[in-house]
Amino acid sequence: MESEKQKFQFSHSLALYNAAREVISGGVNSNVRLWEKPHPLFLESGEGPYLFDVDGNRLIDYVMGQGPMLLGHRPSFIIKAVEEQLRRGILYGAQHRLEIEVAQLVTEMVPSAEVVRFNMTGTEAVQAALRVARAATGRDRIVKFEGHYHGWVDNVLFNVGSGSDPADGCAGLKPVPESSGIAEEAAASLLVIPWNDINALEDLFSQFADSIAAVIMEPVMANSGVIEPASGYLEAVRKSCHKHDIVLIFDEVITGFRVHPGGAQGRYGVTPDLTTMGKALASGFPIGCLAGKRELMDGIATGAITHAGTFNATPISMAAALASLEHLNSGGNEWYADLEARGQRLMRGFDEILSSRNLPHIVQGPPTIFNLMFTDQKVVKDHADVRAIDHNKRDAFLPYLMEAGIRFSGRGNVFMSDSHTTSIVDETLNRFDCALTTFTTAS
Ligand code: PLP
Repeated sequence: MESEKQKFQFSHSLALYNAAREVISGGVNSNVRLWEKPHPLFLESGEGPYLFDVDGNRLIDYVMGQGPMLLGHRPSFIIKAVEEQLRRGILYGAQHRLEIEVAQLVTEMVPSAEVVRFNMTGTEAVQAALRVARAATGRDRIVKFEGHYHGWVDNVLFNVGSGSDPADGCAGLKPVPESSGIAEEAAASLLVIPWNDINALEDLFSQFADSIAAVIMEPVMANSGVIEPASGYLEAVRKSCHKHDIVLIFDEVITGFRVHPGGAQGRYGVTPDLTTMGKALASGFPIGCLAGKRELMDGIATGAITHAGTFNATPISMAAALASLEHLNSGGNEWYADLEARGQRLMRGFDEILSSRNLPHIVQGPPTIFNLMFTDQKVVKDHADVRAIDHNKRDAFLPYLMEAGIRFSGRGNVFMSDSHTTSIVDETLNRFDCALTTFTTAS
């Protein structure tokens, strides 16, 4: 019988990738996909924890669409809900009942959500949040943190992966664009500081509070190292924002419905003024959601603040969102505890295997989204620590994992889903062990 290892070849994917590069810039349609090792894959289908690629490989997937597939690939009850909606209509450009039902569940589950607005992506939800904050406060400046990602639009695409130096002549860090083609003035109203450091925020507030509309953060730094907030940090930020009438925005595009039924704000017990969500909310169908205090969002209600979009609250995505939220809400804390236990088993397993080979590493994060990194550091608690991890070793290891049939994201993030059962977790650990043996022997 053909061995598992022999099966995981990617030559057909490579041929398609080369063909794609002829007609699609870079061969992919989102730059994040360029990071896949050994090269971007071409997929045929997905089922539960598995993806099936054009080479006939069955891969255990921990990318899960970069987060949305919390319930696994193609859950039957999501397909059913979407099929039923497809039979009724695709796009109305008008209101429908599902919107209200989804909004009701979001407001029930997410502490900060009094009212919501839906759109198609997390990027758009962030832009809506910034506009609402500026309109509500009459101020322009936005505080963001290094290492945090809030979508690919010019005004927030600064200091995500890059290192940063102190800013000239003011508290905070020099804004570093993450893309060429971003105008210098895009950073004009941006203040960047380190996260998990309340003194840095208070220093900034002491100079600029009167001109700051909002502080936006990932309440778990999921896009860099999956770092949880330090004890008391979210509470302190909440208090300072209150004191200066600054709008606090939690960008929960990754953490929303993933780390707790109420997102990170439910998990850590700190309620922001505005929240952005997306990803897991609609199990893979396009969605973004801005939620928050009624008094802040009133500008949208009156039409004073523009929020629009041809595809906003498209019935297909709303059908998927309703089926997803009904499932998560009825499962409640028990459902999350069960998924966390499986995530913990995987984290512990990785830790034990790496320790047994004396490979310095850290496995950290809430167990439903965590990060595995090669590093000598004892803790990785901020962006500077994330930059110091051994990215080259991770990049070198990822192709070995893929050849063992495990698909990890390029940044080492592991997205758990309900379809990752205990036996899938154990199979993953066996494959991981084999991949590590091949890797360490080869390097
Ligand atoms: N905010 C965060 C925290 C994200 O992780 C992302 C995407 O990964 C976004 C915003 C942008 O969401 P989208 O890719 O749906 O536009």
